[in-house]
Amino acid sequence: MKTATRNADYTKEYNRKLVLRMLLRERLSRAELARKTGLTRAAMSVIVDDLLAQGMLVELPVEGSAGKGRAPNPLALREDARLAVGVYLCRDSCQVGLVNLAGRSERRLILHREEIQDGEAGLARIAACVEEILAERETDRSRLLGIGVSCPGPVDPEAGTLLDPPGFDGWHYLPVASLLREKTGLPVRLENNAYSLAVKEKNYGEARQLEEFMLLLVDTGVGSGLITHGRLYAGSHGLSGEIGHTSIDFQGDPCPCGGRGCLDLYAAIPHLLRRYGLSQQQEQGEFEQQGPCHGESVRRRQVSGGTEDQHEREDAQEQQDIHGGHVDLAPLLTGRLHHAQAGKQG
Ligand SMILES: [Zn+2]
Repeated sequence: MKTATRNADYTKEYNRKLVLRMLLRERLSRAELARKTGLTRAAMSVIVDDLLAQGMLVELPVEGSAGKGRAPNPLALREDARLAVGVYLCRDSCQVGLVNLAGRSERRLILHREEIQDGEAGLARIAACVEEILAERETDRSRLLGIGVSCPGPVDPEAGTLLDPPGFDGWHYLPVASLLREKTGLPVRLENNAYSLAVKEKNYGEARQLEEFMLLLVDTGVGSGLITHGRLYAGSHGLSGEIGHTSIDFQGDPCPCGGRGCLDLYAAIPHLLRRYGLSQQQEQGEFEQQGPCHGESVRRRQVSGGTEDQHEREDAQEQQDIHGGHVDLAPLLTGRLHHAQAGKQG
């Protein structure tokens, strides 16, 4: 009997999550939800009424309902029903923002390279930013799901520990999730940045309609995020996306990882800059003049080539994405991929 109750609870929870996930991506009526989930209309009504009562959903007016018969009201997630703190930690800078269920960032603070060079001190700065944003927005903590930290891999997401990404020495083997939880009192989830970008593209981005895709992140290293059957596939050890140290040339250059001819050595941006005679110092100098986030566009400008005019327009677009968009940098990534492709064809 106990097992039966557990099974019923599990099924109920599973179906609720399924409905929420579907409504995250599109507006659907009860009938459409029932059809897509394979549940009966009656079962769907129970779930929807429960979520409406909890304030998780809104029932929208029917658009253009001049025709015969009563069209069903579409349902949508109430964007502010829950909030989360998003932390995008990179080598150059760190962004901390408050994000709603539509993936929109309501407020963000930026930490500079020197503030995050040491992991422990960096975490204290991040925790201070979290408190500042929550206080400033007078956030009701009961609506807060927790903190999601996206950072360069490899990470151990279960232990919440950053492992040993190159060029990130001050953070190696730091139990980021537990330290940040201690400092803020909030649940913390740590994720490889390529994985979180893939999930973001699936939920809010250009890949919403795709059930199977791989997101390729090309930065100071190369990583990937794999979505299969509409869900993130991290692999049994959470390392499925770590493709940067896969050898593409067994006779190639030695890599700091101990292997030879790793993909990182040919495709990561610092290596591309070197290959095309663009020094890191030049990039660094421009970065420091312009401040964090601009470093991304400086890199893009150097790698992609093209006229200065085009770049100015893109930079303006990019600023808009950073300030009004999302905590993670998927819009920049998409731009960069388009660039890389255009460069290849040109
Ligand atoms: Zn390697």
